[in-house]
Order: sequence, then C-alpha cells, then structure tokens
Amino acid sequence: MLIVISGPSGVGKGTLIHHIRNTFPQLVVSTSATTRSPRPGEIEGVDYYFLSKKAFQEKIDDNAFLEWCLVHTNYYGTLRSDIEAKCQQAPAVIIEIDVQGAKKIRAHTHIPQYHVFIAPPSLTELENRLRARKTDTDIAIQKRLTEAKQELREKNNYNKIIINNTLTQSYSEIDNTIKDILYHKEHLNE
Ligand code: 5GP
Repeated sequence: MLIVISGPSGVGKGTLIHHIRNTFPQLVVSTSATTRSPRPGEIEGVDYYFLSKKAFQEKIDDNAFLEWCLVHTNYYGTLRSDIEAKCQQAPAVIIEIDVQGAKKIRAHTHIPQYHVFIAPPSLTELENRLRARKTDTDIAIQKRLTEAKQELREKNNYNKIIINNTLTQSYSEIDNTIKDILYHKEHLNE
C-alpha cells in the first residue's frame, strides 16, 4: 500500500516524515530520483538518487518511473524498482511527492493508496518557515510561495488534510491517520 504525502515546500513534511519513521519503524520511505544537487548532509540513495539530466532522461526512456515531474527547475521521479522492492518489505510505503506527482499516482497506479496533504496555517507562516530554513534566496522563496498557492488549490483531492500548526498536534493527527490506514483499511483508494 502507498501513503502519499504532499504539501508546499517549507511546510514541515521532512519533520513529519522523520517522526513517522521513528513511530512506525515497520514502514519504509521511498527514495526518489532527482536532477537537483545534494544539499549539505543529504545522502545518495537515502534522501534521493542524484542523477544527471542525461541519466534521468535515460530512465524516462526506459519507463523506469511510476511518475516523474518538473518541480521548480529540476526533475524528480518515483522509481518503479524502488517502490516494487519496498512494497515487498513493508505493509506500506511512504512517498513524499509534489501535487502533480500525486495526481499521476492516483490516476495511473493500481496499488491501494491513501493521500495526505500537509498545509501551512497561513501563507505568511509558510514564508516565515522558508526564511528560517536559510536554504533559499529571496527569489527562490518568492517562487516557492507562488507555487505553494497553486499546490494549495489541489488539497481537496486528498483523503486527509493536516494543517501543520503545532508539531504536537500534527504528530498526533498523522499517528492517528496512519494507525487508521494500517489497521482499518476501509479508506483506501484502489
Ligand atoms: P526538495 O528539492 O525540496 O527535496 O523537493 C522539492 C519538491 O519535489 C517537493 O515538493 C517534493 O515533494 C517533490 N518531490 C520529491 N520527490 C519527488 C518525486 O519523486 N516525484 C515528484 N513528482 N515530486 C517529488
């Protein structure tokens, strides 16, 4: 089963996924491929498979992706091989992807799935978080905020929306959601 998690850049998806990994060690997280450069501390094969544009294109040609998209200025894709291997290992695979990718998975993947959207309390708060991260320039932050507005329009296509206001509240909501998915599978999209 797939648990797809989306939400604007800077909303706190990374922190929530870190929490999920610790709370539900039986779950695994998919590793996407990307053409963007690694950020400090990111590990090849763990955070992403970092590929050149040419290598990424070859994988597109080989139909190696369950879905792929251009996000910001880089390509990102979910590898079929990664998902297939991880579906054998775990009761559910967590996939953190943007709204376009989630839409493609919903439309074209026949694996049972549940989609969670992480929303910011407000756009002002999202901007504060992006600034606090100190990983983006002013221009990049403005671009991410414009994209966030578009992404927020997609939130009603998700099975569950979590507003990431306080972490304690969000942890409790995501824990309950995942328990519900794992133990009462009635909400799954097939
Ligand atoms: P970042 O560069 O900050 O790690 O990720 C940028 C965006 O790309 C995030 O919204 C993230 O969810 C999305 N993303 C990461 N991996 C994939 C993927 O495999 N497919 C798609 N469509 N989006 C992805």
